[in-house]
Amino acid sequence: MTTAAIATGITPRDNKLSHPYRRNSASSIGSDGSSTPSETPISYAADPEHPEAPTPRTTKQKVDRRPPSTFYLKDTSQMTLAEQICNLATCPPEMHELKDESLDRGPPPVQPVWRENLFIASRAIVPLALHQLAYWAFPQYKWPFALAYPFYILCFMGFALQVMDRLSSACVKHGTFDEKQIGRDRTPDKSVKHLAMGILAYMVVRTGIDFYINYEAEAQPLFDFTWTFPLRLAAWEITLDYFFYTYHRASHEVDTLWFIHKHHHTTKHPTAILAILAEEYQELLEVFTIPLLTSLIVPMTFSEGWMTLCYTIYVEMMGHSGVRAHWCHPVLWPLEVFGMGLAVEDHDLHHRFGKSGKNYGKQSRVWDRVFGTCAERIETWGM
Ligand SMILES: [Zn+2]
Repeated sequence: MTTAAIATGITPRDNKLSHPYRRNSASSIGSDGSSTPSETPISYAADPEHPEAPTPRTTKQKVDRRPPSTFYLKDTSQMTLAEQICNLATCPPEMHELKDESLDRGPPPVQPVWRENLFIASRAIVPLALHQLAYWAFPQYKWPFALAYPFYILCFMGFALQVMDRLSSACVKHGTFDEKQIGRDRTPDKSVKHLAMGILAYMVVRTGIDFYINYEAEAQPLFDFTWTFPLRLAAWEITLDYFFYTYHRASHEVDTLWFIHKHHHTTKHPTAILAILAEEYQELLEVFTIPLLTSLIVPMTFSEGWMTLCYTIYVEMMGHSGVRAHWCHPVLWPLEVFGMGLAVEDHDLHHRFGKSGKNYGKQSRVWDRVFGTCAERIETWGM
């Protein structure tokens, strides 16, 4: 087996490697997993479903120097568990293609927030409704922690996959930001294991915080809301964003912290799933410490906490999706009037700026506006 085959786990006998771009992409990976400059682009836009199709260009640059990504070309049966988890979030090949200069999509469309609220609420309510149905069917049996916790973790994963599908479809329909310069990034091979662990940790820990603080088996899940919930949801997101802003800006301005945060900035043109790609220290803060602090400051019931969880992951994935539309925060959209609302392009630009920063908020631009770190939008300027 060649060095490249060992590095990628793909053997020359693998029939999918008959595609010239795939062979070249494998040969561009060194034994240490690093990328070696090559005159042939890596196979970012390759479609495993159609191995004989010509592979379109992925970047305007002569060589695609992004970290190689080949794991998605394997047969699912040959993938490791980590690869299978990351493969669940594989985007349509069109999202990774460079678009031609002559393509005229017109101005980016405005995505109605009511439609996104309907999408989120109608999906997020399902586990609460199932839980409630079980309470109506068997009134004497209240779900213990050991039953409810794994149930909600699985539902949270299902919700995240539905969000992923929705955003990918929108990216194909409306295009992606900066698409005439470069297509969206794929999950690098070298980050697959780390990302898979991050996804599992996110699901278990974020759900766990709501359970640890708020779960009461006696409560009726569908009626565990008060009229102040929308206001507390908004307050929760802005409070979360304050803590996030503080540590995020410090991560860009203090060199030792940037050394950790730069892993998340491996991608300049992310997709929704890459929202979770980060070093352990960053994950500890983002997945555990900051949401826990926020939940202690802004009280919620269990069902309210669950809905908040779904809204939060939706916005985090939305912000990394790159969909070329004026696509605003589903709850904090009124802040747009004050130039403090968050839309997809804001965090997309943050990734393009790299260490130089701007747009540190991930739920709003409240703190960016207050502390003077907002950047002008480009493709959705004035929207
Ligand atoms: Zn950053």
